Amino acid sequence: MQLHTITELLAIPNYRVSHMVVHSDSRLDLLLEPSRFIPAVCSGCGHVHNTPVHSIGTMVVEDLPMSGKRVFLHVPKRKALCVEDDSIRIEELDWLRGRFTKRFADQVYWLTSITTNQEAGWYLGLDDEVVYRIDRQYLEELAQKKLSPVPAPRYMSVDEVAWQKWHHYVTNVVDIEKRKVTWNHDDRGKSVLESFYKALGEEQCADIKAVASDGARGFLSATQEHAKNALIVLDHFHVKKSLNDAIDTVRKEELAKARKTDDTELADLLHCKKKFILMQNKQTKRRENLLQKLADINDPIYKSMFSKSSLLLSIHPAIALQPVKLCGSGSSLRLDRRFRCSSNSAASSFENGTSS
Ligand SMILES: [Zn+2]
Repeated sequence: MQLHTITELLAIPNYRVSHMVVHSDSRLDLLLEPSRFIPAVCSGCGHVHNTPVHSIGTMVVEDLPMSGKRVFLHVPKRKALCVEDDSIRIEELDWLRGRFTKRFADQVYWLTSITTNQEAGWYLGLDDEVVYRIDRQYLEELAQKKLSPVPAPRYMSVDEVAWQKWHHYVTNVVDIEKRKVTWNHDDRGKSVLESFYKALGEEQCADIKAVASDGARGFLSATQEHAKNALIVLDHFHVKKSLNDAIDTVRKEELAKARKTDDTELADLLHCKKKFILMQNKQTKRRENLLQKLADINDPIYKSMFSKSSLLLSIHPAIALQPVKLCGSGSSLRLDRRFRCSSNSAASSFENGTSS
């Protein structure tokens, strides 16, 4: 195999293979040289200094195996004077991790996450102690990342999650634009969210435009005190939950009345077994039939369903109009017409900024 082919296989930026130093059944040693000039980054301070090269040493690092052979790269490293501390420092290469290439260290870390250090070491031909050191370095870097300041979200949501059979809580802060959890902390409540705002600092808190939450008092007061420019909103999930709770309250009231007046038809439609059909978002024939019957014989339930749809319309039209799609799938259901007229009227009211 020619050296430039091995260079292409290794694909290390700015370096090429100049010699094959050792080639045995079990190992391959390759001498690298720079393929173009790149400024040396000081390992002492992380900056580039324009000081002359003091000397060049060679470091042997292990790379990923090739064709069943362990691969060792002999990497030239420049030394130069660091102007920060007046000492001779070796250059830092971002594709190396100590005596290994970063990709080799990545593989070690990956292996230790699925098996023991001893087994990973046996597989790679490494000493247990070396595997432990790589693993520890990775964990320390991950911990450091966790401790580093969180970038302030412009739009965020906060919620608590219960775990271990509801004995423990974790508070998660989600950056809505990035769609990811950017901060979390054990426990819940005002003091936990306050620790997030305090970590951000006043200036960054002032840049938060909106905060969504489940409406818990602690979250609301912490946001009011620290993120003064943020619009406080209820998150979509909790809005729907509150609306469903309200509809269920109406259902229970109507069910009690129906039982009192021996209205067996209505009582059967509002039985608790039907509750889940009523609340579900999935459009089914069963739900369609139930809604139509209820619209025919019970106005309060119909009105509560319509109120839910109107409120959701202000949040997300596609969601709110689902009942129209549901009921409009058939020929000319009465509920379909009623809902379509009402929803259209509600939609235009919202657009015109008036309430119906
Ligand atoms: Zn330096």
